[in-house]
Amino acid sequence: METKIEVLIPEEDIRARIKEMAAELSEKYKDQPVLLVGILNGSVFFLTELAQQMSIPVEIDFMAASSYGSGKESSGRVLITKDLARSIEGDHVIIVEDIVDTGQTLHLLTEMLLERNPASLELAVLLDKPTRRKVCLDADYIGFQIPDEFVVGWGLDFNQKYRDLPYIGVIKD
Ligand code: 5GP
Repeated sequence: METKIEVLIPEEDIRARIKEMAAELSEKYKDQPVLLVGILNGSVFFLTELAQQMSIPVEIDFMAASSYGSGKESSGRVLITKDLARSIEGDHVIIVEDIVDTGQTLHLLTEMLLERNPASLELAVLLDKPTRRKVCLDADYIGFQIPDEFVVGWGLDFNQKYRDLPYIGVIKD
């Protein structure tokens, strides 16, 4: 049976919103170099679009953390499977992530990166599910707040599929 995916946020709305976020970030960081830290794998599409839409030069690096198994429920634990290539001491850093759900992953990563003494640390997420929060965590830049639905597309997967969808969709079982 073919999987049906309902569009929650269309491509043009996503690109327009990321353009706005990029403009805001470019203005804020116009006088200082900034490092975008993408969390693999989900942030890749958002980070690429954000970086390309920014009007200032940026550096990029990646970390990988796994908090979800192969299904739709969080394991409640986070495992760092890839770390940054260099020190971020004294740098202006923006963590770029696909979605904040319970907040556990980003809470842990934020704490970890703050211990490395960056000059500043901010958090940009494409999607936010505020009703699912288990720990206190507020992103500095949010693309869209969405309801408590399991979404795919723009880097978000279900069993490693659908990351490449150019819209945010909900799988209809
Ligand atoms: P958190 O630690 O905030 O609960 O979860 C963060 C991670 O869970 C995200 O980076 C993402 O990989 C995964 N996640 C949370 N909600 C969703 C969702 O609706 N769809 C998908 N595909 N992944 C999600």
